[in-house]
Amino acid sequence: MTHDADDGWSFATAREAASFGAGELTNVPGIDHAMAESGTLCGIPEQQVTRYMHLFEPAEAQACLDCRQQAQAAPTKPCAQERLHDRLQDADPGQTRDDLLAALRKGAKVGLWLRGPASQLARHYAGLDSLTEGTEAAVEAFNTAMSIGLARVEDGAWRFLAVLPEDDSRPLVARGPRTLS
Ligand SMILES: [Zn+2]
Repeated sequence: MTHDADDGWSFATAREAASFGAGELTNVPGIDHAMAESGTLCGIPEQQVTRYMHLFEPAEAQACLDCRQQAQAAPTKPCAQERLHDRLQDADPGQTRDDLLAALRKGAKVGLWLRGPASQLARHYAGLDSLTEGTEAAVEAFNTAMSIGLARVEDGAWRFLAVLPEDDSRPLVARGPRTLS
């Protein structure tokens, strides 16, 4: 999905609220706290809390007031489009990259974004066979890396492939026509 220029979508409006895991003071059920890296946001030490797998819900009645305030004041996180846009700032320059950056700025959905063994990703996720621009460099990147990242974005008539190396090499962008398959 792509947003119209006038529907108000932007990196700023698309930022996502910060999320935290939930926890309780061990043996004192009833109050949910938001978990920081160690301990709760309101300062209970890690060894006194039981961590839960669900997320802290600031709006719920049992949420600790201090944790609620801190969770709601936490900085928002960039959306996937903004993060990928940032990641591609130092990509190989060219029309393909510029078109992908423009698509991300208007909200084109990041359909897939993952990393793993390059040979597996090449076989199952990269869609190298369907590329028509930037093919050679993309294939080369998958052939030479052990581990690699990729992102796929569809916009208009194009299916973009962003190749995101794990080493120091530059990201690159390839694309091919979008198909219905
Ligand atoms: Zn708390």
